[in-house]
Amino acid sequence: MNILVTGGLGFIGSHTVVELVSAGHTPIIVDDLVNSKLEVLNRIEKLTHVRPVFYELDLCEEEKLDMVFQAHPIDAVIHFAGLKAVGESVGKPLEYYSNNLGSTLSLLRRMVAHGVKNLIFSSSATVYGTPPSLPIKEDFPLGETTNPYGTSKAMIERILSDFCKANPDFNIALLRYFNPIGAHASGELGEDPNGIPNNLMPYVTQVVVGRRPYLTVFGDDYDTPDGTCIRDYIHVVDLAIGHVMTLKKLVQNPGLVIYNLGTGKGTSVFEVLEAFEKGTGVKVPYKVGPRRPGDLPRLYANCDKAFEELGYKATRTVEEACRDAYNFQKKNPNGIE
Ligand code: NAD
Ligand code: UDP
Repeated sequence: MNILVTGGLGFIGSHTVVELVSAGHTPIIVDDLVNSKLEVLNRIEKLTHVRPVFYELDLCEEEKLDMVFQAHPIDAVIHFAGLKAVGESVGKPLEYYSNNLGSTLSLLRRMVAHGVKNLIFSSSATVYGTPPSLPIKEDFPLGETTNPYGTSKAMIERILSDFCKANPDFNIALLRYFNPIGAHASGELGEDPNGIPNNLMPYVTQVVVGRRPYLTVFGDDYDTPDGTCIRDYIHVVDLAIGHVMTLKKLVQNPGLVIYNLGTGKGTSVFEVLEAFEKGTGVKVPYKVGPRRPGDLPRLYANCDKAFEELGYKATRTVEEACRDAYNFQKKNPNGIE
């Protein structure tokens, strides 16, 4: 199938493009490079021996986006494009709402205009807010989001659900990611954040290659076995494969579907540091600091629905993800240049 991949040069998008090619699909990438580099396209070509068609454009520029739909018969869209830095979103709410909502609305209008009826959307576990119990299931109510980034994801979910009710012949999958980490095993693709990383794994890998002196562990006095927060870390290649499997199901299943993409297993920050040492032989220097406002002590997914309906199960371990993330950072100490 011809798959339009928005944000296809970003962290998750680029890994998904590789898996799409290896499953026999033809990705067409749209990305404005606001948080990625053109060099990623060369890396994709190196890994797959295919250079996908690439359009450098902002999805909010609807007329330009229309030209992409005119130029290619598109079977489905995977919509990764968006701004994603939680902390930054607090200071720049208008940018986050304009970009994340605006790009989605413009994409939906072009899909309607060109009769493209299959869409996968990158949502996030953040839409659950504080869950009533664990593990988190897809039918839990949406919770209170605590920052404009999270609110933009919840709002887009709502827009897509309303859109689907009004357009019952559309197929839309909302994929709620837990914590994507790791990198392609080749070390060619990986997570390459601008500035100081917000997320745990890129911070850790930047510490071990000497770009930062130590990791600050945000609190060790939570009500968890070792006092640090627990998350559900999923290898980015497993996550990418989840999109390919969703695609197969999506085109046969009219309406809106929602899947958690995680592993179902919770891992604490200290356990991640142990797994890192086991997987790479490198000890991570760290200091324990205060809690980060807004962090919940425990979050992990129930992944039964994706397994039962898609046959999907993440198989890679946190240790493998640490090894791959380290390999990527060693090969690209200053990120993708
Ligand atoms: P990323 O920033 O690496 O990739 C997003 C890509 O979209 C970037 O290449 C960026 O240049 C592009 N982009 C942004 N706005 C655009 C626009 N208006 N037009 C065209 N391109 C645009 O992020 P990622 O980690 O790969 O995340 C992909 C998606 O998954 C995002 O929507 C993110 O919110 C969501 N998500 C990510 C995580 C995570 O921890 N990485 C967790 C949950 C959900
Ligand atoms: N974390 C940390 N130090 C850091 C970054 C993150 O201790 O520099 C912890 C954070 O408190 C959380 C976990 O690592 O418990 C995962 O954080 P991340 O920001 O990667 O993902 P989140 O689940 O918050 O979206």
